[in-house]
Amino acid sequence: MPTLVPLRARGLADAAQAPAVSAPRPGERLELGLVLTHACNLACTYCYTGEKKRVRMTAGIAATALDFGFDAARRRGATLQIGFFGGEPLLEQGLLVAIAEQARARAAALDWPLQLQVTTNGTLLSAALVEELARLRVHVALSLDGTRAQHEAGRPLAGGGSSYDATLAGLRLLVDSSAPFDVIAVVDPCNVAELAGGVEAMIDDGVECITLNMNWGATWDDAAQDELDRQLERVAAIVLAWVRRGRWIRVQPLESALRSVLELGHAVTSSCAAGSRRLAVAPSGRIYGCARAVGEDDGRAAIGDVHRGIVPPSIVAEHGCTCANVEETGDPMVAGRIRIRHDRALEQLAVRLAAAIGDSFAHILVTEQGH
Ligand code: SF4
Repeated sequence: MPTLVPLRARGLADAAQAPAVSAPRPGERLELGLVLTHACNLACTYCYTGEKKRVRMTAGIAATALDFGFDAARRRGATLQIGFFGGEPLLEQGLLVAIAEQARARAAALDWPLQLQVTTNGTLLSAALVEELARLRVHVALSLDGTRAQHEAGRPLAGGGSSYDATLAGLRLLVDSSAPFDVIAVVDPCNVAELAGGVEAMIDDGVECITLNMNWGATWDDAAQDELDRQLERVAAIVLAWVRRGRWIRVQPLESALRSVLELGHAVTSSCAAGSRRLAVAPSGRIYGCARAVGEDDGRAAIGDVHRGIVPPSIVAEHGCTCANVEETGDPMVAGRIRIRHDRALEQLAVRLAAAIGDSFAHILVTEQGH
């Protein structure tokens, strides 16, 4: 087995004592996740959010979390991104809309940039809600695992039955609206064999931005890892084919690896930045390094609360996802061999894709800047 790579650690980059600045610095962003509820209407096999219970965030905790988020962002000189999570956050859509209204009003009063996003299984979307989210400029990240077979392999309704048709109905509402959205597809050994087919199916359904979210906590044996490599090769071929037809399909993490290869000459290992540029607030008001770290909110991984702020000392990994590291190695600071192998395979794939795309990519960048 290859040697595990220890990740560098540093003190929490909290700027709690720094004075607020007048404008955000370019490229600086603070992502603050608000976990609105622990309840969900699905029972995904790979869910990491723990026991589903009807525990919701109160309006008071939400208001204090907004105070914390804007204050932290302004002291760090960072754009604020507020993400709504669960459980299923659309079970609390009244609360979500109220918080989004307050956040937009606060951002306008402070003249501070704000991005809003909700991560949802999509089954509770309606035309009216899609319109409301568009009005509030809430970006929707829809959890859809690809084809019906892929989706049904891991995302049953709570109590049994398929969630696919309800999620697909949500997708169609988003495609038909002017609302910006993307899709998050969980990649697991149970659905990896159809990965490329699922990407193609989603593109055919009108999706242009897809994030492949690896379930590192699953058992990835050698055969599953080989299958993952093959499927990612096919995904890269799909992206290339669309580039040659004049359409840029974004598939993460391939796109980030591709961009860094084309701009820097090598792929930069991604960092989840949990506990520094990424934070999350549980319904209780406890602060965690990211929404994934909240789990059942038993407080063991908490790094503070919205009333007192972040309590140092804490450490964050500079590379990799601390939650994924825990799932694979038991240590938040140590990446596992499967993750390391995947990062290397991704870089090699990005290098080949970059060579194939060549000048087309520069044209795409210029076009994007022109918007
Ligand atoms: S939709 Fe999300 S919160 Fe609900 S069971 Fe699935 S992964 Fe967990």
